[in-house]
Amino acid sequence: MARQILVVEDEALIADAIAARLRSEGYEVRVAGDGPTGVSYASRFEPDLVILDLMLPGLDGLEVCRQIQRDRHVPVMMLTARDDETDLVIGLAVGADDYLTKPFSMRELVARVQALLRRLDALAGRTQSKTLHLDDGIEIDLDARRVRQHGEVVHLTPTEFDLLVGLADRPGRVLTRERLLVDVWGYRDGSGARTVDSHVRALRRKLGDGVVRTVHGVGYALGEPGTDGEPADPAEAADPS
Ligand code: CA
Repeated sequence: MARQILVVEDEALIADAIAARLRSEGYEVRVAGDGPTGVSYASRFEPDLVILDLMLPGLDGLEVCRQIQRDRHVPVMMLTARDDETDLVIGLAVGADDYLTKPFSMRELVARVQALLRRLDALAGRTQSKTLHLDDGIEIDLDARRVRQHGEVVHLTPTEFDLLVGLADRPGRVLTRERLLVDVWGYRDGSGARTVDSHVRALRRKLGDGVVRTVHGVGYALGEPGTDGEPADPAEAADPS
């Protein structure tokens, strides 16, 4: 069954170009030309992914992002103007999973969309019925994609969840931002390091400051160093970048 993508963009030329390209890649695409329509389509059609422009009339992209994430976690890729950094950080905080800065090529857009959907598929495809137990009373139910802390459900965005699982899969191991971008976001592009930082901040806000450890100059880790007795990631050491 074709994946459904909702494009929320008021500039018809851009919206049409995105829709045409995604349709040619086999996706089913709906276009909303303003924020309220975007919110309504997101709940009515339950798309697999939302491509959301930040600058929208009526209801801006951040508010749209908040509203569509309220009832159901939907992967969101935000489109931002260059130098829109503050909005970008807020956007990631309100639940966007990735972003593209305008102008971007359609090829780049498709690559990002595919990476995001692949990442979700990979996680959905995990067949093991497994619960990970972490410090601070945190339990991750991998099947239900649900996190509880001291028995209470903690609402995480899909990306926050993936990041937590990415770290929890290798307890004690220090993962660089670049590694996390590849593992969690699915692409090799070091320019997105801030994306990792923003999501780590969100996890700490929701689960407590102690949940993710910063290893200065290196990256992030979960749990105490070397608790799994494994050496540093050899793939990392072999990576010339
Ligand atoms: Ca716009």
